Amino acid sequence: MEKTIEQIEEEALKELEASTNAESIRALSIKYLGRKGLVTRFLRNISNLQQEKRPEAGRKANETKNHLEALFRQSLKQFETVSHQPNGQVDVSLPGRSVRYGSIHPITLITQQICNIFIRLGFDIVEGPEVETDYYNFEALNIPKNHPARDMQDTFYISENVVLRTHTSPTQPRIMEKQRPPVRIIAPGKVYRCDSDLTHTPMFHQIEGLLVDRNVSFGDLKGVLTAFVHQMFDEETSLRFRPSFFPFTEPSAEVDIRCVMCKGDGCRVCSKTGWLEVLGAGMVHPAVFENVEYDTTHYTGFAFGMGVERIAMLKYGIDDIRKFFENDLRFLGQF
Ligand SMILES: [Zn+2]
Repeated sequence: MEKTIEQIEEEALKELEASTNAESIRALSIKYLGRKGLVTRFLRNISNLQQEKRPEAGRKANETKNHLEALFRQSLKQFETVSHQPNGQVDVSLPGRSVRYGSIHPITLITQQICNIFIRLGFDIVEGPEVETDYYNFEALNIPKNHPARDMQDTFYISENVVLRTHTSPTQPRIMEKQRPPVRIIAPGKVYRCDSDLTHTPMFHQIEGLLVDRNVSFGDLKGVLTAFVHQMFDEETSLRFRPSFFPFTEPSAEVDIRCVMCKGDGCRVCSKTGWLEVLGAGMVHPAVFENVEYDTTHYTGFAFGMGVERIAMLKYGIDDIRKFFENDLRFLGQF
């Protein structure tokens, strides 16, 4: 028995639904609507039906033909749009690209950690200019004209009296000029020296500390730095103060911590000494106070300075300072 037009349409719709490309739609179009297609044949055979059934069958068959034609055309258009995508258009079928999250630079991270420790101890954070006058970088800090730090090999000179600051210490006289004691400040920032090797880069970061008040003693300095080291590394880390010389502090000291790698047994990092130098410190030199017109009979104070890269290298076990500034995401992404 011949299929009814309804059955033919139902099969066509099923096949259309299962089609996945333009080629199969074209094949379907031929199978149903082509010269020997199922719908075409049905229409041709209507004349064989009984007289009274012909008009209704003809109407239905034409409806089906038009319906399928429209559906095939529409589907073909959809598949062709996807397969013949012009360049520059968005292919909505591609999987999305995931967003790469950034991370905080290890130097920024360590600077924040150091600053937070001193904020908890009551210090304020201040900043000074990186392009500094000779006066604040040297003169106000009791660094005389013939001091080695003024050597052209160490200092980047902008002009005879303007330099890229070689340390964060110029913030000391800058703040004291504007503010009467008590002064409790921490000054983080970039500093510059003509120097480049495994442990030196021409630009690096320092953190300066200054505390001025009545009755400030070397004991206060030791207490503050011990509290800092214990919070930065761990409670077991011991400190030692070695006599040293800085033009702007008297007495001056280099501060070492027990090696964080070998715990004092001696290793490559500490050159078998068991100790690591982490910062310089001392009591503010009276000449520095006189430059900012502080009364040296009433006020004493201490100052200290540390290299942020040095602390970061010890904290994370990094052996080459240049890694911080090479912008290698494999390195930076670890922090
Ligand atoms: Zn060691």
